[in-house]
Amino acid sequence: MTQRTLSIIKPDAVQRNLQGAIMKMIQDSGLKIVAMKMLRLSKDEARGFYDVHKDRPFFDSLTDYMSSGPIVVSILEGENGIDKYREIMGATNPENAQEGTIRKAYALDIEKNSVHGSDAPETAQVEMAYFFSKMEMVG
Ligand code: UDP
Repeated sequence: MTQRTLSIIKPDAVQRNLQGAIMKMIQDSGLKIVAMKMLRLSKDEARGFYDVHKDRPFFDSLTDYMSSGPIVVSILEGENGIDKYREIMGATNPENAQEGTIRKAYALDIEKNSVHGSDAPETAQVEMAYFFSKMEMVG
């Protein structure tokens, strides 16, 4: 089943100039980029994106970090795209991430873990619409 998923290259990775290296890992996996842009979230926009985590103890720190610098948001498409991208990303905590994953290669810690990927079809729909209009989704 072909699926689309939302990817974010987070501020820690953009700040270290890793957009190209991370996009190469994504493209080498066979996932296709069907939309992409760079932007900076306000604190409120970061809160809106991570609304599901609003009651978690890490919410304030996470939204500070996500609004601390530019990010690269993209929509990826491929066979089982949602799970496939989560496999390439690796575990949330880089200490648990497998060799060859983006987070194993680049994440700094459990918060500054370099990438985001949607976790299910319903959240993918909401997250894609948070950043992109239909007109911006090509392919
Ligand atoms: N996060 C954090 N502390 C935690 C768990 C998560 O700062 O203990 C951050 C981290 O940046 C993570 C994001 O919150 O990527 C969303 O958490 P989730 O559990 O949804 O992980 P993901 O789906 O990104 O792997």
